[in-house]
Amino acid sequence: MAAEAQTLSHETVHPLQAGDPDVWQIISAEQQRQEHTLELIASENHTSPAVMEAVGSCLTNKYAEGYPGARYYGGCQYHDQVENLARNRAKQLFGCEYVNVQPHSGAQANAAVFFALMQPGDTFASLVLSDGGHLSHGMKINFSGKYFKPVHYPLNYDLESDGYEQIDYDAMRKVCLEAQPKMILCGYSAYPRIIDFKKFREVADECGALLMADIAHIAGLVAGGAHPSPFPHAHVVTTTTHKTLRGPRGGMIMTNDEEIAKKIDRSVFPGMQGGPLMHVIAGKAVCYGEALKDDFKQYAKQVVANAQTLAKTLIESGYRLTSGGTDNHLMLVDLSAKDADLTGADAEQWLEAAGIVTNKNGIPNDPRPPKITSGLRLGAAALTTRGFKETEMVQVGEFIDRVLSSKGDAETAKRVRSDVVDLCKEFPLPH
Ligand SMILES: *Cc1c(COP(=O)(O)O)cnc(C)c1O
Repeated sequence: MAAEAQTLSHETVHPLQAGDPDVWQIISAEQQRQEHTLELIASENHTSPAVMEAVGSCLTNKYAEGYPGARYYGGCQYHDQVENLARNRAKQLFGCEYVNVQPHSGAQANAAVFFALMQPGDTFASLVLSDGGHLSHGMKINFSGKYFKPVHYPLNYDLESDGYEQIDYDAMRKVCLEAQPKMILCGYSAYPRIIDFKKFREVADECGALLMADIAHIAGLVAGGAHPSPFPHAHVVTTTTHKTLRGPRGGMIMTNDEEIAKKIDRSVFPGMQGGPLMHVIAGKAVCYGEALKDDFKQYAKQVVANAQTLAKTLIESGYRLTSGGTDNHLMLVDLSAKDADLTGADAEQWLEAAGIVTNKNGIPNDPRPPKITSGLRLGAAALTTRGFKETEMVQVGEFIDRVLSSKGDAETAKRVRSDVVDLCKEFPLPH
């Protein structure tokens, strides 16, 4: 069958299509899904074809345990070159001295830092998951909560205050002075406001703790100058490469401290991982190269402008956003303010039927359980990649309101779905 297709068609038959039509078909269907839906999941993005080509390259065939110039296998000359290139570009991009580009993911990067800079049983301070933190910041069922002792600093829960649902820096200081943590973590998964890294560092210095900034979500904004940098304040910075930074799935760790850098390198390999994913490291190099170009600054700026336009559109339609708005790429919608019965789970499902992909998310002090929630997290990074500007973001906000106001009506979903496809066709994915 496949061979026949090859002789009949004038178009190239790709090796996957010919060799494994089952997998090819699934991937093709997923490509269509991405092409014709609005991606509003705040942790996702559309990578460039150049990044994907690097990730799909022959670099996957090689074992390169160790680091450039000090590998445990022969034949690593090009792998050394690509990892050095990735490291140098990352240093330039984030303005730091040392970087490890080998962590397979953000959670792996965090684990490597924890085991490098703390002993099991040590205390660290972080924001709890239900307030916008990440599971690797001390959740009981994660390594971070099993092997280390989290204390959580609060948000401002005073409804009357200007800083409602934002980090309460005074309360954070109090928690840290009392718990005397070895490390203080900042950087979150569902926090829509600017992080004041300088204030965190002052508190870290006051209690003799290290400051770790996990910029997984905002890395692209930091790289593009649309969010303040954690340097020079943080002792160590971790990130993913696949969220706003728009690279391949992966993690990395950065620091300006030589001693910390040495500990981290040993902790990543041989501490946590074996052979690095060199094809992904090549994709990271491409991603950093793209982020170093001037138009990435424009991208980062547009992401924030787009998020703010979507936020404004939703607020004008009667929704409440936690903390009242956004300074970055994401927002958290409190659905209960619009409709007391509306849950995050229903909203996610109804929107998906209309071709709008989001995720339910707990809001601070959410009365509903994590599988239901009262909130919806929305991000603008992926839509901005496909070329959306303020005009389209207003339309997206209106689509969302049409679906949610209809309470999941199938006819409405169908009509919005068709408008979504039309809009997607105007803004094809990068290819
Ligand atoms: C996404 C995220 C991570 C983890 O990334 P994975 O690559 O999924 O392991 C870590 N920290 C924060 C704050 C995140 O948002």
